[in-house]
Amino acid sequence: MRRTLVVGNWKMHGSFADNADLLAAISSQATRFPEVESAVCAPFPYLAQVRELLAGTPVKWGAQNSSEHVAGAYTGEVSPAMLREFGCHYVIVGHSERRTLHHETDALVGAKAVAVLSNGMTPIVCVGETLDEREAGHTAQVVTRQLDAIIAALGADALARVVIAYEPIWAIGTGRSASPEQAQAVHALIRQRLAGVDAGLADDIRILYGGSLKPGNAGALFAQPDIDGGLVGGASLVAADFVAIIMAGQSAQSA
Ligand code: PEP
Repeated sequence: MRRTLVVGNWKMHGSFADNADLLAAISSQATRFPEVESAVCAPFPYLAQVRELLAGTPVKWGAQNSSEHVAGAYTGEVSPAMLREFGCHYVIVGHSERRTLHHETDALVGAKAVAVLSNGMTPIVCVGETLDEREAGHTAQVVTRQLDAIIAALGADALARVVIAYEPIWAIGTGRSASPEQAQAVHALIRQRLAGVDAGLADDIRILYGGSLKPGNAGALFAQPDIDGGLVGGASLVAADFVAIIMAGQSAQSA
């Protein structure tokens, strides 16, 4: 059985004081839900603090982006080798905000996933369609194109070590989550596509849902057969909400 994974994406939020309170609350509660794996992906300047405060707790940590290069003349970039030195377990790759605001292409997202994996961390690769694409009936086509770029970049062996996050762009930060049925349909499509590469891989790989996940909708989403946890933005900044989502993961896991 796939172990539920709940990952917080802090985006560009935080301060030393707020982080300390948030991390203390999350890490003290997370021990109550041993069947769920949890992690937070913090902005780069806070990784040292996050490592210090989460070391020895069940909560893992990670980053929200990585360079595809390991070292060199890339001013302003952060190397996957450096993230590894911070003890990062996860790196979010290809978040829609990176694809849209920073023009990251499918090929670049694939190269970043390779770089993260080859530096010993797990990429959480995001895919998802815009509202226009959904309304035009192009969801399957868009998600398949994004996924195929990852499959091509990684190949079957490496693919087994990634996490995929389906994040419909129209649901991110809007308060309008995909319904459990809408999300399940896309998760099933992703798993089916992965099964075309390797059936065992498709069974094992974790596919997270992201997009306005809240305590009130997490249970129904996590109850879907192909939803293995969540990538949580806004609600990961509120300790009680993030913990409630982890708790929903535990209920789904034990159901
Ligand atoms: C995200 O940032 O990846 C996300 C899903 O945000 P939110 O949960 O706020 O929609």
